[in-house]
Amino acid sequence: MTDSDTATETGGARAVVEVVPLGRIDEVALAVVAANVDVVLGLPAVTASPRPEPTEALIPTRRQYDASMVLTTLAGDVPPGRIRLGLTARDLCLPVLTYVFGQAQMNGRAAVVSLCRLGGPGGAAPRALFYTRLAKVALHETAHLLGVSHCHRPGCLMCFSSTLGHVDALDIGFCPNCARVLGQGRRRLLAGA
Ligand SMILES: [Zn+2]
Ligand SMILES: [Zn+2]
Repeated sequence: MTDSDTATETGGARAVVEVVPLGRIDEVALAVVAANVDVVLGLPAVTASPRPEPTEALIPTRRQYDASMVLTTLAGDVPPGRIRLGLTARDLCLPVLTYVFGQAQMNGRAAVVSLCRLGGPGGAAPRALFYTRLAKVALHETAHLLGVSHCHRPGCLMCFSSTLGHVDALDIGFCPNCARVLGQGRRRLLAGA
């Protein structure tokens, strides 16, 4: 891909974040994530071609997918100067956690977000709430890729969330300390590091 190709993808700026559907993911979800990464984090994002479902990460006894294994696969071929955010409809977990909404490599190249639980019981959440939750989880995981750790300031997007109630209580924004670390990571990424 040439520089001019990438320039047209994002209306001028070089895309540094790839939003990658793992299997079939609805177009609005992809667009919401790409737009939030672009506008809130200031990182030009592009939606990449779909990849297969992460079957290698399936834990049959739990009927869930090991988030760390998904990341290992996703991170394997990220182009230089980019980070990658996978979206999956499958339920993610870690060996020590019943489920996770998302997972990221700290200061790494790949993160993943699951849409599976964001609709709440029966998937009954209003669409606006569902997509707001998705944006929050995607921004949180992308910030980990930029080196931002968990935070305890009420409302900060970098607070750890284990329930939808936690996610709903967060602002779409970062406390001053997290914003500072985020800015450093953003500049490193945009500089091609
Ligand atoms: Zn986190
Ligand atoms: Zn914070």
